[in-house]
Amino acid sequence: MTTAPSPLSVFDSLESEVRSYCRGWPAVFDRAQGSRMYDEDGRAYLDFFAGAGALNYGHNNPVLKRALIDYIERDGITHGLDMATTAKRAFLESFQNIVLRPRDLPYKVMFPGPTGTNAVEAALKLARKVKGREAIVSFTNAFHGMSLGSLAVTGNAFKRAGAGIPLVHGTPMPYDNYLGGRLPDFLWFERLLEDQGSGLNKPAAVIVETVQGEGGINVARPEWLRALADLCKRQDMLLIVDDIQMGCGRTGAFFSFEEAGITPDIVTLSKSISGYGLPMSLCLFTPELDVWEPGEHNGTFRGNNPAFVTATATLDTYWADGQMEKQTIARGEQVERALRDIAAAHQDAGPQLRGRGLAWGLEFADVNRAGSVARRAFERGLLVETSGPQGEVVKLLPPLTISAEELDEGLEILALAVRETS
Ligand code: PLP
Repeated sequence: MTTAPSPLSVFDSLESEVRSYCRGWPAVFDRAQGSRMYDEDGRAYLDFFAGAGALNYGHNNPVLKRALIDYIERDGITHGLDMATTAKRAFLESFQNIVLRPRDLPYKVMFPGPTGTNAVEAALKLARKVKGREAIVSFTNAFHGMSLGSLAVTGNAFKRAGAGIPLVHGTPMPYDNYLGGRLPDFLWFERLLEDQGSGLNKPAAVIVETVQGEGGINVARPEWLRALADLCKRQDMLLIVDDIQMGCGRTGAFFSFEEAGITPDIVTLSKSISGYGLPMSLCLFTPELDVWEPGEHNGTFRGNNPAFVTATATLDTYWADGQMEKQTIARGEQVERALRDIAAAHQDAGPQLRGRGLAWGLEFADVNRAGSVARRAFERGLLVETSGPQGEVVKLLPPLTISAEELDEGLEILALAVRETS
């Protein structure tokens, strides 16, 4: 008698052990639409993961898909390095008119390689070149990517160990609330900067996430961010906001730092900038920082033109008025109410909730519990991942375009999953 091979067998036998999401979600996905993914047997999963923030506008968004299909069908440029193309021009014009100008942001736009870590590497390299200093300050529990420069400013010990070489020229400082509010903000950082005996080389820049996504949905207060921006000015350090996960509307406004009223010197964007899940990233900086020589930083896949097309359609469709931001805030309030109910119903284990816009986290005292909740949620047809240094936080990142009903449906599954794992 022969038994049919497991639908996952080729992944198990051929794909590297490094694979991770397919372990937590052992299904073979086949298609997706809006806020739902479907496996090859047709089973639906409500997606509160949204491509780790790369699918803010849902899967196969029909408006963006139409623009992409039209572009491909007319033989628009697919690959063009950093050549001038009509697709890139349309994107730059929409980005200028819809995003930068209304916010009075003076940034120049650089297209690094297409992933988030490429934008972070470009930002760090530029800051070092401008200031002529090597040190960068980052924060506890930061996540900035997997290439060596980005890893050097990333907190997670497991990820850092993967580098296999010393990760140098990065110094971590306590993120907002890391010390439980027991010390005045930046006391330690400022002391080190001012003390000639501290051993801290003067940093070129400080890199920060306004909400730490991978670090466990740690939300920095606007006043903390303002104080950081002030400190950077006073101490002649550039401020880099890594908005790769929290930008593109995830926290409400297009840029997550808008609420704090700060203007970073350098901003990185990726994940949802193409709107469609196509690889694309940007490094933005104020014009006086644009000291690059032509070709000094390059990459074969800087000009992902199909991504420019969907990015332009995204800006034109969702960001030409303030509707997206209002809807995200309203949906975020809906999530907060549901999480408060979950927390109140489980006072013994006391899950803590935190978030902004449509990025939310539920932290469990028992560090294994979040993983159990995510597994149970998967069995009930909901995709949620965990984050935080020990995976102790259930992280909710639904598409911004999710309906109120779908959101309720997923939150009910989450409540059940929490109850069933207690
Ligand atoms: N920066 C932040 C804040 C991120 O959340 C991520 C990815 O999760 C990155 C950088 C790295 O992006 P990528 O995985 O596309 O290299």
